[in-house]
Amino acid sequence: MATNQEQQQNQAGRHQEVGHKSLLQSDALYQYILETSVYPREPEAMKELRELTAKHPWNIMTTSADEGQFLNMLLKLINAKNTMEIGVYTGYSLLATALALPDDGKILAMDINRENYELGLPVIQKAGVAHKIDFKEGPALPVLDLMLEDGKNHGSFDFIFVDADKDNYLNYHKRLIELVKVGGLIGYDNTLWNGSVVAPPDAPLRKYVRYYRDFVLELNKALAADPRIEICQLPVGDGITLCRRIN
Ligand code: SAM
Ligand code: CA
Repeated sequence: MATNQEQQQNQAGRHQEVGHKSLLQSDALYQYILETSVYPREPEAMKELRELTAKHPWNIMTTSADEGQFLNMLLKLINAKNTMEIGVYTGYSLLATALALPDDGKILAMDINRENYELGLPVIQKAGVAHKIDFKEGPALPVLDLMLEDGKNHGSFDFIFVDADKDNYLNYHKRLIELVKVGGLIGYDNTLWNGSVVAPPDAPLRKYVRYYRDFVLELNKALAADPRIEICQLPVGDGITLCRRIN
């Protein structure tokens, strides 16, 4: 058994903040947030899309309702107008974005899979916000490269949400940092990657979690060291890192 002194040494270097005690300690607490503050205020269209997506076999990929609420408010707070989303699936985060933008707001939305986007599209249309969306089917990287060839796209985006292939996040970052405006935001999703970022090497992780983990770890280090941005990593959903371009 560890002595008191050993225990104290083990504690050295660990966070001391009292605030962590108020962070999510249980599923019940998360459920409480959903039932008290999220579901009662969720727009009807988002509820419909969430319920439709829950029946889809890949539903684990969807953005959670609390994160959707967060994105919606964030976009309003920064008065976002020109935005981009990489990784749409059935469109829950896309709808959260589309509902937050002004009527002449724009979202360039990219996904390699059009079928899933089309599952959610009728709900987005019914909500009256489909005209804000320019959906491009295919891998996002070549689209970004093409956009970079035209100087007028540089520094033109207020907000970019990245929620696709985690092994490409650093490749996206290299390009997105040129496309987002100074003072604009890039949000990288799933940066806590199922909690696996702190799992011991021999932890029993699902295959895809293990595969992408090293890419997420590398991304988190690179973002923390990037002088072109200020960052804030939030434990919302599966972790989202907000990056504000500063030069
Ligand atoms: N934001 C979505 C939501 O709220 O439901 C979830 C996106 S899901 C986690 C990831 C998506 O990224 C999938 O729909 C997948 O088809 C897409 N994807 C994977 N690789 C991609 C790539 N190279 N370019 C664009 N999209 C990609
Ligand atoms: Ca995600």
